[in-house]
Amino acid sequence: QTMQTTPSTQIVNVGGYSIGGPEFTVIAGPCSIESREQFLETAMGVKASGAHLLRGGIWKMRTSSKDFQGLGTSSFDMIKDVCKQTGMSLVSEVTDARQIEQIYDVVECFQVGSRNMHNYALLKELGMQKKPVLLKRGFAALITEWVKAAEYVTVGGNPNVILCERGIRTFETSTRNTLDLNAVAFAKKNTSLPVIVDPSHAVGIRALVPDLAYAAAAVGADGIIVEVHPRPAEALSDGMQALTLNDFKVMMNKLDRILDAI
Ligand code: PEP
Ligand code: MN
Repeated sequence: QTMQTTPSTQIVNVGGYSIGGPEFTVIAGPCSIESREQFLETAMGVKASGAHLLRGGIWKMRTSSKDFQGLGTSSFDMIKDVCKQTGMSLVSEVTDARQIEQIYDVVECFQVGSRNMHNYALLKELGMQKKPVLLKRGFAALITEWVKAAEYVTVGGNPNVILCERGIRTFETSTRNTLDLNAVAFAKKNTSLPVIVDPSHAVGIRALVPDLAYAAAAVGADGIIVEVHPRPAEALSDGMQALTLNDFKVMMNKLDRILDAI
């Protein structure tokens, strides 16, 4: 049974899969792609529980330059193998316009991270591409700034943008960020683009991620993008917020029931 949601006007095709249509989209995978074993195990696990698309960072925007920066270009062949083997398409972040060409055959959707939402040179370059763009909201960006950032891509000639609310910085420090569900409802009403939620970066605490995913479904989001790691304690980035494969399975079952009820 497919999970139903309210369709957006603009349906975005990611490697043959539609985001913004009637199905609630689940994009899942590790924060960073760390090795063939880790990526394959995660991909097979999330696929078995019903994920539609894979996520996984190749170049990371880490706050500290001393932290793991991603496997980079040396991982492309391995990543293509895993996608082919699992029959899943990958969404992955480009942190620099020069990476677009390098990664073109590896991904089906370019992610723009929260820290790059205001990188208009990158957005202009993505406006000239044939593949879709998942645009995270800047952690201190107004909704209007986020929507205008999306317009850099759409006006540039690429209508295929997915908006992603990933939490904003507020006075609150008990959680990593504050999930702005207002922004999801507002963007759904006032734009034609699909709107998804990233509960992982929004809250930053594994045990709370599923509850925010359910909230995303209830508020009318078109889907979620969520971090999963087979062994979160060993993760090279964002282990605190990574769901285990079993957590993910449990969440998917409950999500199905919630979407049925609304
Ligand atoms: C990510 O998706 O791993 C990420 C870095 O997200 P954000 O840009 O929202 O911080
Ligand atoms: Mn992350």
